[in-house]
Amino acid sequence: MSPPNLQYKKPKSLLNRALGFLEDYTHTLNPYGGCAFGCSYCYVRGMPVAAFREEAWGAWVDVKQGAGELLRRELVRAAAKGPVRIFMSSSTDPYQPAEHRERVTRSLLEAMADAPPDFLFVQTRSPLVTRDIDLLLQMGPRVRVSMTIETDLEEVRRVFSPAAPPIAARLKALARLKEAGVPVQAAVAPVLPSSERLPALLRPVTDRVVVDDFEMGDGSGGRRTRRLGLEPLYAQLGMTEWHSPHAWRTVYERLRACYREDELKISRSGFAP
Ligand code: SF4
Repeated sequence: MSPPNLQYKKPKSLLNRALGFLEDYTHTLNPYGGCAFGCSYCYVRGMPVAAFREEAWGAWVDVKQGAGELLRRELVRAAAKGPVRIFMSSSTDPYQPAEHRERVTRSLLEAMADAPPDFLFVQTRSPLVTRDIDLLLQMGPRVRVSMTIETDLEEVRRVFSPAAPPIAARLKALARLKEAGVPVQAAVAPVLPSSERLPALLRPVTDRVVVDDFEMGDGSGGRRTRRLGLEPLYAQLGMTEWHSPHAWRTVYERLRACYREDELKISRSGFAP
């Protein structure tokens, strides 16, 4: 897989109003435009931000320059109007490979550690998040890191999101975050085919799990995802029985063997502040 085409942009604003599925938040925050993980099921690939680009989703990344300083100013203005609850990120992964060098997300966390919002939710599938444990700890209970673990099967991960980090590395990262005292959860979202081992893998590394699927979680009742035409990927794996609106229940019931009901969340409630 070739590296994405990086472009450097100076945004005029960073905090966007949170809408729809994320209405429990006041703002969304995206350190990058585009996402090099390029997951097959990513509904952002069909949204205007991606649809009007000539390059394929996953092949381009816009690096937002000056983001830390801009956010500092925006946080002051937002806090003057009321509570500030931020979801990072809604249309990119804040810890995609470019973050190793560009450190945009880290600059945003530095700004938020100095002037903490009322709540910050960090959604990622990258172990790189552990680099920022020092800053995350400064936000105490006002932050939660949600690590995507859509499956425990590497062959499934490789078919649906070949550029994303391996599942074992994500589990290890969750363990490190939890051990350090950062509030965490695993997001089995979107539910992909998985094995009966998944609950036992999650139990030691997180006390909280959210389960979500394409129907409940893509913000359009599954329409956006259906347009992506994912059926052939299930067929390629010989796992078409998982291409079903009921698949999430299978996973949820398996998790019930290891988790109390109050530790398990479904769809939007698991992503709420
Ligand atoms: S990591 Fe998230 S934003 Fe990036 S391609 Fe995958 S689903 Fe989309």
